[in-house]
Amino acid sequence: MERYKLIKEVGDGTFGSVWRAINKQSGEIVAIKKMKKKYHSWEECVNLREVKSLRKMNHSNIVKLKEVIRESDILYLVFEYMECNLYQLMKKRETLFSDDEVRNWCFQVFQGLAYMHQRGYFHRDLKPENILVTKGIIKISDFGLVREISSQPPYTEYVSTRWYRAPEVLLQSFLYSSKVDMWAMGAIMAELFTLRPLFPGSSEADEIYKICSVIGSPTTESWADGLKLARDINYQFPQLATADLSVLIPSRSDDAIDLIKSLCSWDPCKRPTAAEALQHPFFQSCFYIPPSLRTRPVTRTPPSVGISGAVDRQTVKRYSGALPNSKLTNNFSSMKLHPSLAPAVQRKLDMAKEDGIKNKKSTKTTQQSKYQPPGKASPSKHFCQCSWFIIIVVTFIV
Ligand code: ADP
Ligand code: MG
Repeated sequence: MERYKLIKEVGDGTFGSVWRAINKQSGEIVAIKKMKKKYHSWEECVNLREVKSLRKMNHSNIVKLKEVIRESDILYLVFEYMECNLYQLMKKRETLFSDDEVRNWCFQVFQGLAYMHQRGYFHRDLKPENILVTKGIIKISDFGLVREISSQPPYTEYVSTRWYRAPEVLLQSFLYSSKVDMWAMGAIMAELFTLRPLFPGSSEADEIYKICSVIGSPTTESWADGLKLARDINYQFPQLATADLSVLIPSRSDDAIDLIKSLCSWDPCKRPTAAEALQHPFFQSCFYIPPSLRTRPVTRTPPSVGISGAVDRQTVKRYSGALPNSKLTNNFSSMKLHPSLAPAVQRKLDMAKEDGIKNKKSTKTTQQSKYQPPGKASPSKHFCQCSWFIIIVVTFIV
């Protein structure tokens, strides 16, 4: 650790505190997560879920674990440094993000997820705080709850922060899958558009209530398995009608609303996979670069490296012409938040008691976590306005 100088604490959770640090030899800025628990053997460290999974992942939309250091029984994880997380971006934001900004970020998250899921892992704690950003580049982080898809259920321990928790997990299913990440992404995408959480439940019961009030109570048609799950635990869904998502998320394209709707389907089987989400019309202006082309020359560094496996060379898409939402984009980027759109819900929640250890951490993170009203922040400081992500020119050498 003497090779690094800790500069400033940038995050603090139940399991560790994260520091911005500098490598004294190379001058490189890194993020160092200092774990709170003592690690008495090296084996214990390398078997840690976060370490084991991240060592196997190499993708431009997944944070890089550069080094693992154990010193005096303290474990330090050295990561590439990222400027901020999506929650911080939203908190400081005075105006709504444009469709293009949201599209760019979500496209990258789905690429990271498609890679992760394809490698046999699911994250289980996707939320804005765990999605890091540096100048428009997105990296999924915090693999503390990651799980191997091939691992044997039941999955009994605590999973994910309540607002982003999939209904099958809320109903205590032991058989959930990578689709819990897709649910979380639906909620995150909606939040990026409105700067308000979509399902801000104050308890698990309230969480289900909030979900019902947005997507309507489940029926045999929409989620037969869910009704059975509810029966098994003697739970009765509140009977609520579906709200109009295009009213809750106003002035956004039909494609955006359609994608959120399908991500937030009751039935996990009806949610798209990450690879399928990348093919959704909402992303038609984004480039998908399949693995076979990843090593080919690419001009203008894209925010993306293709996902593995799913699509072949023929399916590389390049859409040209005006973006479907470009008009909205201009309006939004200059639009101040109307009071009625201003965040009504504070992120401060007393989640600790009900939801167990991970939520103790969340409570800590969220205590000062409140979206600020318009007029306080300087968005340019926290978000690099980048338009380059729309156009990626791939040079094909066939
Ligand atoms: P925890 O398990 O405590 O939630 P995280 O890994 O999510 O730990 O880190 C907590 C916070 O620290 C994140 O929300 C983020 O703001 C910051 N952080 C984490 N990793 C990095 C990184 N690589 N670069 C910059 N900040 C980071
Ligand atoms: Mg975290």
